[in-house]
Amino acid sequence: MKIAFIGLGNMGGPMALNLLKAGHTLSAFDLSKAACDKFAADGLPIAASAVTTVADAEVVVSMLPASAHVEGLYLGSNGQPGILDSIAPGTLVIDSSTIAAATSRKVAEAAAKRGVSMIDAPVSGGTGGAIAGTLTFMVGGSAADLERARPVLEKMGTNIFHAGEAGAGQTAKICNNMLLGVLMIGTSEAIALGVANGLDPKVLSEIMRRSSGGNWALEKYNPLPGVMETSPASRNYAGGFGTDLMLKDLGLAQENAAAVRASTPLGGLARNLYAAHSLAGHGALDFSSVIKLVQAPKG
Ligand code: NAD
Repeated sequence: MKIAFIGLGNMGGPMALNLLKAGHTLSAFDLSKAACDKFAADGLPIAASAVTTVADAEVVVSMLPASAHVEGLYLGSNGQPGILDSIAPGTLVIDSSTIAAATSRKVAEAAAKRGVSMIDAPVSGGTGGAIAGTLTFMVGGSAADLERARPVLEKMGTNIFHAGEAGAGQTAKICNNMLLGVLMIGTSEAIALGVANGLDPKVLSEIMRRSSGGNWALEKYNPLPGVMETSPASRNYAGGFGTDLMLKDLGLAQENAAAVRASTPLGGLARNLYAAHSLAGHGALDFSSVIKLVQAPKG
């Protein structure tokens, strides 16, 4: 299958490589030359522009930071046309970025007017899942479009859920990430409390992992450096899922909660804590660095 892949960041790059390894014909692009060079070195064919990638593509996949990037890419911005004008009718578009459900619906409606099918398919599983091809996809769109996308999604993930119509994948994703944001802060607090009492963080983490406090952060993503070799904490919080991306998702959850008059007090508090952490200069670090807010100073 000929696949255009746009957005080669921490997630998109490894996802595109998995499609390449599965035998698909790829044409990839990122606005960042460094990102293009990094994945070109792994054998990913890089196109000159986003418009060039979609020429002849049967499937287009995008993995961009936020709503404005996705809307700008497909519908255009600052007087520049979007790539939707260059995508042939009958093509399937899979947007895996985490963005506002309203933006997903807006772009999907514009695509449908051009005879292009689009699903929102945000993911969970982190960079480890992107590399291993074990992501969870939460899909919004028609069941028929999901079945068309399935052979492509299966090369990048192991769990594929149909959340509902266009935008529903995004709604499921922000519910999940609101919970993750809260969990990471709670886990950080518990570890910091134990360490302040002289406990060994590895022993404490293992006790909680196997007890009623067990959760994904303790299982796969311990926030304290040195506890878990594979977690971003142990590489100075580089790569992974940026604090500013978590802040964006918690903002989307709060906007959504306001729109449907839902009560999300811990989600609101979590958004404010990640905002404070970002303002302190940690926006580019992995979100698990939020433990710095509750850690005792060293020395
Ligand atoms: P990232 O910042 O590492 O990568 C995004 C890439 O998009 C960058 O390389 C950027 O240059 C590129 N880009 C931006 N606008 C572009 C455009 N118009 N055309 C081409 N390229 C463009 O982000 P990421 O961590 O890969 O996350 C991508 C999305 O996946 C986000 O919505 C994020 O919330 C979501 N997500 C991330 C993780 C994670 O663990 N990192 C997990 C699940 C979901």
